[in-house]
This record gives sequence, C-alpha cells and structure tokens, in this order.
Amino acid sequence: MERTPICPNCRIILHPKEENDTVIIECKICGFKGEYKGWVEHTCSKCGCDKAIVLFHAMTKGDEDATGLFKCIRCGHNSREGFMS
Ligand SMILES: [Zn+2]
Ligand SMILES: [Zn+2]
Repeated sequence: MERTPICPNCRIILHPKEENDTVIIECKICGFKGEYKGWVEHTCSKCGCDKAIVLFHAMTKGDEDATGLFKCIRCGHNSREGFMS
C-alpha cells in the first residue's frame, strides 16, 4: 500500500485532511483530489484525532520495535513512537 500521500500527476507530497469521515488529499498545482487510504489509526496526544499518516517507517533488525513518525492529519502534530506488535 502506498503510504506516502503523493499527487499521482505531480509526484509531490500532499497534506491529507479529514473531510466527511474520510481522508482526502488535494493537489493545489494540478487540481487532483482523491481519497487517501494509507492513513493509520493513531491517537494524537495534542488534539485526540485518531487518524495519522506515517512519514517514516523503519524496520529494525532483531526484536527491536519499529519506529515511525506519525503526523496527525487534523492538527499536524508530529510524534515519534514505536509500533506495538
Ligand atoms: Zn498535482
Ligand atoms: Zn492532532
């Protein structure tokens, strides 16, 4: 699954936003607008929003937790946390 929210036409990273219980991405350059399905459930510690995008996801070797940078789609708050398995 494509995790990074990018415009299929311009190949630039877009900023997802909530709209009617779905998450959409909108490109201001070419006008592309579509649903973004790569979001993950992550509760924002700042605003309580339960949807976020993962900007960075690195798998570590061995039994260490993978870490990712979650960016809240509502307020844009970043938090770096390990994924629970
Ligand atoms: Zn575009
Ligand atoms: Zn938030």
